[in-house]
Amino acid sequence: MTGQIFDHEVVIVGAGFSGIGVAIKLDEAGINDFLIVESASGAGGAWHSNTYPGVVVDVPSFAYSFSFEQSSEWSGVYAKGAELKAYAEHCLDKYNLRSRLVLNTAITTAEFDDELHIWRLTLSTGREVTSRFLITATGALTQPKTPDIPGADDFRGVTMHSARWNHDVDLAGKRVGIIGTGASTVTIAPTIAPTVEHLTVFQRTPIWIMPKPEAKLDGPQRTVLRHVPGVLPALRAASNVLGEVSYTLTTNYYRQLPIVPKVYERIGRLQLLHQVRDKQTRKALTPKYAVGCKRVGFSNDYLPTFNRPNVTLEASGIERITPTGIRAKDGTEHHFDVLIFATGFKTFESGNMPPFPVLGAGGADLEAFWDEHRYQAYYGVSVPGFPNLLLMNGPYAYNLTVYFQFIESQARYIVRLLGTARRIKATFVDVKREANDRYFASMLARRRNQIYFSDSCNGSNSYFFDQHGDVPIRAALTPEVHWTSGHFNLKDYDMHTAPKSAVGVNR
Ligand SMILES: Cc1cc2nc3c(=O)[nH]c(=O)nc-3n(C[C@H](O)[C@H](O)[C@H](O)COP(=O)(O)OP(=O)(O)OC[C@H]3O[C@@H](n4cnc5c(N)ncnc54)[C@H](O)[C@@H]3O)c2cc1C
Repeated sequence: MTGQIFDHEVVIVGAGFSGIGVAIKLDEAGINDFLIVESASGAGGAWHSNTYPGVVVDVPSFAYSFSFEQSSEWSGVYAKGAELKAYAEHCLDKYNLRSRLVLNTAITTAEFDDELHIWRLTLSTGREVTSRFLITATGALTQPKTPDIPGADDFRGVTMHSARWNHDVDLAGKRVGIIGTGASTVTIAPTIAPTVEHLTVFQRTPIWIMPKPEAKLDGPQRTVLRHVPGVLPALRAASNVLGEVSYTLTTNYYRQLPIVPKVYERIGRLQLLHQVRDKQTRKALTPKYAVGCKRVGFSNDYLPTFNRPNVTLEASGIERITPTGIRAKDGTEHHFDVLIFATGFKTFESGNMPPFPVLGAGGADLEAFWDEHRYQAYYGVSVPGFPNLLLMNGPYAYNLTVYFQFIESQARYIVRLLGTARRIKATFVDVKREANDRYFASMLARRRNQIYFSDSCNGSNSYFFDQHGDVPIRAALTPEVHWTSGHFNLKDYDMHTAPKSAVGVNR
C-alpha cells in the first residue's frame, strides 16, 4: 500500500447494467480495487428510476441479461421493470460488488492530473476521490427532457415526467393528458386508460409498433427453463438473432438490405389495420418514415387503446399549455387534472454523456473537444487527449444490438486495455490522435449504409441525430463489435510510465 498515490485504481461512474457489467469483468480479471459511484438511491439505472405504470422491457429477457448470469425465473418473456431492478441488485450481491458501491453520490467534475497521471473526481458530497482510471457508465437515457412549450408553468393541475413517476398521485377517475408517443407512452397509455376518466395522447410523430410475442413463464414453462439443459442458451441465441435483425441490420445495413425495414413496415401496417378501427385515427397513427429511423415500439395493446371511448389522439400539435390543460393547434381546448410529460431524455446533447465536466490532459474540456471536432471516440471508448478515461457508451460505440451483448463487448475491450497497462506498468493510456481519426473516418464512410441518411428518415424527428447532424451509432454488426473488442490494435495507444519520482509507487 505504501506510496499509492490514488484512492482506487478505477472509479466507475454509474451502477446501471453497464457499470455492473464492467465491474464484474474487472473483478474477474483481478482488477478489483475499484469504486462504483452512483447518484441514485439504488442500482439498476434506467430500471431503478423508471417506475411508470406498466414499465417493461421490449427485448426478450433471455437476451436482456448477462450471458454469464442467465435466469430461468423471469415472470414472462419480457421482464417487468421491477424484475430488472431486482436482477441488478442480485448481481451486486452475487458478484460481491456491494461493498465497492457508493449510492446517493454523484460525480460532479473530473480533472486529469498531468503530473501524477490520476483522475481527481469531485463528489456531490464535496469530497474528492482519486483514481488511476475513470470509467463512465452513465447511460444515455438518464436526464429527463421536458419540451419548451409556451405556458408550461401556468398549468394548475399535477404534472410529472414519465421517468420521475409520482406514485402518490391516484389517476383513477382523472382527466389525464400525456405528451409524447415514444416507448414510455406505448406502455403507460394502455395501462392507465382503463382507470382514468379520460386520456388524451398528444402525438408529434407517430411511432412504428411491432407485435410482441408475450407469454407468461410459469408452471411447465418455468420447469423446462429450470431443468432442461440448453433451453435457456437456445432462447437467448434466438432472441439475440431477432434483435440483430430487427435493429442492427435494419438500421446499419439499410443500403444493402432495404427489404428488411419494408418487411417490418408491412407488419406494422397490418397491425394498424387490425387493431385500430377508426380510419382517421389509424391514418394519424401511421408513421411516414421507414421503420428503424427512430426507436420502434413493441406492444399488442397500445394501438387498440385508441378504440376506447375514453381515449383521444390529438395529433394537430400543441399551441400552448394553459392553466387548465392544453390548447391544441387546431384550437381545441383540453382540460386535465394531470399532465404527464413522456417526452424522453437528453441523448447526444452537450453535457449529457457524461453529465459532468471532464478536463483531460492540459485541462482540455471534453465537451469543447466534441463541439469543435464533432462527437467521436476510438471504438466509442477512448478520446485522444483524455488519458486513462474509458467510456462504456461513447460516440460510435453502440451498434443498436441487444444492450447486454454491447455491455459485454465494451467490458471486454476495457479489461484488455487495463490488463495490458497493468502488465507493462503504464500509468498513462491515451489513444493516438491518428488512430482516433482513422476510426472516425471509417464510421463516417460507413454511414452511407445506414438508414438515417436516406430520404426514408425525413420527418422522423429521431433523437439519434446529434447537434452536428451526425448519428453516433456504430455501423457494424455484433460479431464485428465483439471481435474488435478483443483484437483492437494496442499500438493505437500511447502507453507509458511516468518517472517514479512523479507518481510514487504504484500498487
Ligand atoms: C424508460 C426506459 C425504457 C427502456 N427500455 C428499454 C428496452 O425495453 N430495451 C432496451 O434494450 N433498452 C431499454 N432502455 C435503454 C436502457 O437505458 C439500456 O437498456 C440500459 O439499461 C442502459 O444501461 P446503462 O448502465 O448503460 O445506463 P443507465 O441504466 O442509464 O445507468 C446509468 C447510471 O449512471 C448514473 N449516473 C449518471 N450520471 C452520474 C453521475 N454524475 N454520478 C454518478 N452516477 C451517475 C445514473 O443514475 C444511472 O444509474 C430503456 C431506457 C429507459 C430510460
